[in-house]
Amino acid sequence: MLEKNATPNWDNFVTKLEECDEKLSRAWSQINHLNAVINSPDLRSEYNNNVTKITKYYSELSQNEKLFLNFKKIKQSKEFKKLSSTRQKIINDELLSFKLGGIGLSENKKKIFKKIKVSLSKLSSKFEENILDATNNYYLNIIDKNDLSGLPDFLINDAKKRAVEKKKSGWIFTLDYPSYFPFMQYADNRKLRESLYHAYSTRASELGDKKFDNKKNINEILKLKHQLAKLLDYKNYSEVSLATKMASSSNEVINFLDKLAKKARPYAVKDMNDLKKHAHKFGIKRIEAWDVSYLSEKLKNEIFNFQDSEIKQFFPKKKVISGLFQLVHKLYGISIIKKKADTWHKDVEFYEIKDKVKKVIGHFYLDLFARENKRGGAWMDECISKYKFNDEISNPIAYLTCNFSSPSGNKDAYFTHDEVITLFHEFGHGLHHLLTDITDYSVSGIRGVEWDAVELPSQFMENFCWDWQVIKSMTEHEHTNKQMPKNLFDKLISAKNFQSGLQTLRQVEFALYDIKLHMKYSSNPNYYMNLLHKVRREISVVIPPKSNRFPNNFSHIFAGGYAAGYFSYKWAEVLSADVFSEFEKHNVLSPKMGAKFKNEILSRGGSRPMMKSFIAFLGRKPKIDSLLKHSGLS
Ligand code: ZN
Repeated sequence: MLEKNATPNWDNFVTKLEECDEKLSRAWSQINHLNAVINSPDLRSEYNNNVTKITKYYSELSQNEKLFLNFKKIKQSKEFKKLSSTRQKIINDELLSFKLGGIGLSENKKKIFKKIKVSLSKLSSKFEENILDATNNYYLNIIDKNDLSGLPDFLINDAKKRAVEKKKSGWIFTLDYPSYFPFMQYADNRKLRESLYHAYSTRASELGDKKFDNKKNINEILKLKHQLAKLLDYKNYSEVSLATKMASSSNEVINFLDKLAKKARPYAVKDMNDLKKHAHKFGIKRIEAWDVSYLSEKLKNEIFNFQDSEIKQFFPKKKVISGLFQLVHKLYGISIIKKKADTWHKDVEFYEIKDKVKKVIGHFYLDLFARENKRGGAWMDECISKYKFNDEISNPIAYLTCNFSSPSGNKDAYFTHDEVITLFHEFGHGLHHLLTDITDYSVSGIRGVEWDAVELPSQFMENFCWDWQVIKSMTEHEHTNKQMPKNLFDKLISAKNFQSGLQTLRQVEFALYDIKLHMKYSSNPNYYMNLLHKVRREISVVIPPKSNRFPNNFSHIFAGGYAAGYFSYKWAEVLSADVFSEFEKHNVLSPKMGAKFKNEILSRGGSRPMMKSFIAFLGRKPKIDSLLKHSGLS
């Protein structure tokens, strides 16, 4: 019906389409959520029966030529100029997304476009499968007990279990990250670290089992992405990726990363020197790639003699939650009140949010603890988004989900500092969704926000977990009821920035490699490795051995959605640190700053580009200085 509209306008077309979308999202978000948090055979089969229909529906929607033409008609009509800037943006966003989906191409080009898309999706799966198979294809079987020296008990126990399962004697270590990484951190036997490093860093390459070599896949993916970009009239794939991001051009991204690299490098050199000074104690003359995690861990233990468990005793759930609610009350004037509601589990709580004048503006479910049949990790999801159809405003509802360890017996639960950070992070996403003022459905809350900007509100909240004023009032020792001592908190801060020069430089290396790789296409099959060597020579402090085949298992860009987008991690950190530093200049608990942040950023959703919102808040474009300061790099 919507397709056949001869004279489409905002009310008879866009609103109707949004209404359909809202209805479906509302129904599906509940099933999707329950399937994730109380998975059962019934729910799973119901979910699986429907998920293909939903995927098919959205993919048909994005390929619907008639809907595209209707949006185009509105854009060209007299009405367009009279629409609010928010609604104009919605129409422009739609047109761009249709364009990137290949709509509007000639029939012939459309066929090629579809073929490329199908091939890319197959190649991505193959890429990921190869990594998985190569990972599973290897294990390290330790027979001599002395070779376990340095390893923590949990790792040894897991390795024993694995050996028993495989009917082998001794202990088995694998290339799965939870086995590999701690091995590299703790194993005293340098030769074994070297073998494991070699196996790990050559996975899915010609240096391992050739069956799983990803070289061809990488070259094919790069070629097809370049063809795709050309077909859509872009210079290269990086332009395609940036079309929907906050960063405006590849050069802007490169400048940003170069600056970060320049600033971080001296600190990385210093970090490396710290390790060197330490290395001789372990009989290491020249630090190799397989020594870095090991020496870091040793140095860290020497400097910061505290355990996670020591910190955990200071963060009871009731204090943390009330501290969080008080914080957002001070900043935004909102009140959060627990309400009775039916939920899917007895541990789940339901809250109401009221604004300054005591008007209810939204609700959220808080589901904090890990349990059987609940998906791992932490996330915020939309249950209902804010919108106004037919003059009636519907308030938003969010799901906030974490997987913290549940309290034992009648005691309150206690959180690690990492868990407090996770809670604040997800709560930040939640506020972005819940405190929106936008009633146009497609861009309210986190909807329509650029991909590289959506972590701004969440990472912004994390900053408060490193602020003594805020943290102090959230602590109360399990036995003594005393607040956390300041010197323990100071240790926590220095541990946070431990070797941040090396860490930052490593992230920048990956990001710079990714963006450059997608800016220029070369038919030389070794180009992707040559480029990596070049980037490493230019910026890195730890140069891995020649055999390192990092690209062959760089899933983020070859199998995930991060191609020419890996920089987003650092980008969002820069934004949130920059915003937070503005609070620090005044007072981190300043209601005036809170109101400004809420008005210019939090409440705006995707109604305008994030750069505009950012500049409205700070009066200028983002700068890297605050992130450097917060990471101890200035
Ligand atoms: Zn997040």
